[in-house]
Amino acid sequence: MDRPLDILGLCSGELAAEAARRLGSGAGVAGRVYARAFETGRLEPEAFGLSAVSCRAWRESFRVGLLEPVALVEEEGGAGITAKALLRAEDGSEIECVRIPMRGAAAGGGPRFTLCLSSQVGCRMGCAFCETGRGGLVRGLSAAEIVSQVLSARILLGWDCRNLVFMGMGEPFDNFPELARALAVLLDPRGPGYAQERITVCTSGQVEGIRALRALGYKRLGLSVSLNAGEDEKRARLMPIARRWGLAELAAALRDYPQRRNFALGVNYCLLPGINDGREDAAAVARFCASIGRCLVNLIPYNPGRAPIARAPSAEEEERFQGWLAEEGLLVRAREAKGGSIMAACGQLGGGPCPAAGGAAGA
Ligand code: SF4
Repeated sequence: MDRPLDILGLCSGELAAEAARRLGSGAGVAGRVYARAFETGRLEPEAFGLSAVSCRAWRESFRVGLLEPVALVEEEGGAGITAKALLRAEDGSEIECVRIPMRGAAAGGGPRFTLCLSSQVGCRMGCAFCETGRGGLVRGLSAAEIVSQVLSARILLGWDCRNLVFMGMGEPFDNFPELARALAVLLDPRGPGYAQERITVCTSGQVEGIRALRALGYKRLGLSVSLNAGEDEKRARLMPIARRWGLAELAAALRDYPQRRNFALGVNYCLLPGINDGREDAAAVARFCASIGRCLVNLIPYNPGRAPIARAPSAEEEERFQGWLAEEGLLVRAREAKGGSIMAACGQLGGGPCPAAGGAAGA
């Protein structure tokens, strides 16, 4: 007999096809089971008046695999509470996701949240400023595990997040087939039903992946790239991937990515004092940005983790660099350090909760 398939890794059409093949079930029932699975996080065929035999057959063929929350840490900040959850997969792997409060209230008056998702356990990219990369890659997550972060967060932790960003553990394009499948599920109107513009994939500059994402044909899906240096040699010292794809190739791939109206490609810049915070660094960022078209620079203060390569920048250093970028005519958003004390900020995932660590971000 076929193994039970996790519904969280299937689009509604795929579930209908599998249910027809395995159970001879009609598309109507499959659609209802699918919608309910995403609503409740459970497989509940009995809710639709099926016989006990049919329900058993459904359970033998399909499952809904939520991830088990095993630890939760929170940090109070200006915009609200940043929270990091450690979720355990069936094989015991630990997956981290972070709920980040956004500025601007939601309809009910509370803060809006973005959920930062992981795509891998560990990462093989080896960025110098990142905790996740330090232990290397353990494995890629399945599409069901990626989607399950969203569902487990909503159902088991009560986190209802308006936006999703692939900026947690791992380089999303290093796990492309599962990422592509997870995106299709997250966008499925009969399932989670996220709008494309509410999802952003963040890459360290994996050019093949940018081109492959473009080939999927989404016109409104967000994309951001971790730049961290606007000059090849310095970037390669911080991010080994830059030895494979230089800035010219990266810029060409980004230029080809669909730019919708009111869309600015995100360029993430982790500010590392004494390493990439000089006037000439700002000018190099501007040269790169000029070569890709409309973009928004997200300035992220470095989070010194367990093996820091620099200290956290001071507020003055951040403001100074932001001013230089603005002088260069760039659109800049200085990102508030969120979750630094719980090792939940950018570049800190995979290190576990660390109440002693202070500081801020970068990836
Ligand atoms: S910054 Fe991103 S791509 Fe680089 S090592 Fe960390 S998780 Fe991997």
